[in-house]
Amino acid sequence: MNIEQNLNNINSSIPKDVTLVAVSKTKPVSDLMEAYNAGQRVFGENKIQEMVEKYEQMPKDIQWHMIGHVQRNKVKYMAEFVNLIHGVDSLKLLKEINKQAKKHDRVINCLLQIKIAEEDSKFGMSAEDASTLLQSETFSELKNISIVGVMGMATFTYDTKQIENEFTLLKTTFDKLKIQNPKLKIISMGMSGDYQLAIDCGSTMIRVGSRIFGARNYNN
Ligand SMILES: *Cc1c(COP(=O)(O)O)cnc(C)c1O
Repeated sequence: MNIEQNLNNINSSIPKDVTLVAVSKTKPVSDLMEAYNAGQRVFGENKIQEMVEKYEQMPKDIQWHMIGHVQRNKVKYMAEFVNLIHGVDSLKLLKEINKQAKKHDRVINCLLQIKIAEEDSKFGMSAEDASTLLQSETFSELKNISIVGVMGMATFTYDTKQIENEFTLLKTTFDKLKIQNPKLKIISMGMSGDYQLAIDCGSTMIRVGSRIFGARNYNN
């Protein structure tokens, strides 16, 4: 597994204005350093504890993205350094992020996770809930967070047409929300198996793990 080669392959096959988030969950710092030395600066993790440990060990010019489901009681551990939180799916969580960001005198960028998959297991808000949230007074009073886009995860299936429909749903949801919220600029969708399709459907940020670092082993 040549991490540098993998990164080069992906970077040369995507448009320049699409951000590549290197999803490094479960991988050792030595693997992340290989990616770092190849020029990668944006890393995604799905567990706060693991992200904090890696943040402490790695160079400080890295942008850390939290891509997993966030528990409110753990926001405080990443509030000092996290660059973008992809999986925000409630006003309650947003309030906690705002509170912790304020303690560090920061504004934390967030994406609203929209439920686009048919599967019940996937987190996220409906387009209507997202719209209501963005127009609520409570939201307008949160000065230490900024909603900069949306994130979605397609159904785990080999049915390309279904994945395409779900990505398109996220893109149209983004377009609608953007009319009232011009600050929105990011559509985070697409992983190792489907990032080309995601880009064709309007993705501006892809989250790629195994294509860079190889298959994950959750047993160690
Ligand atoms: C693990 C993960 C990815 C990356 O998955 P790969 O298939 O390895 O590219 C992307 N997004 C989220 C939210 C993840 O948890």
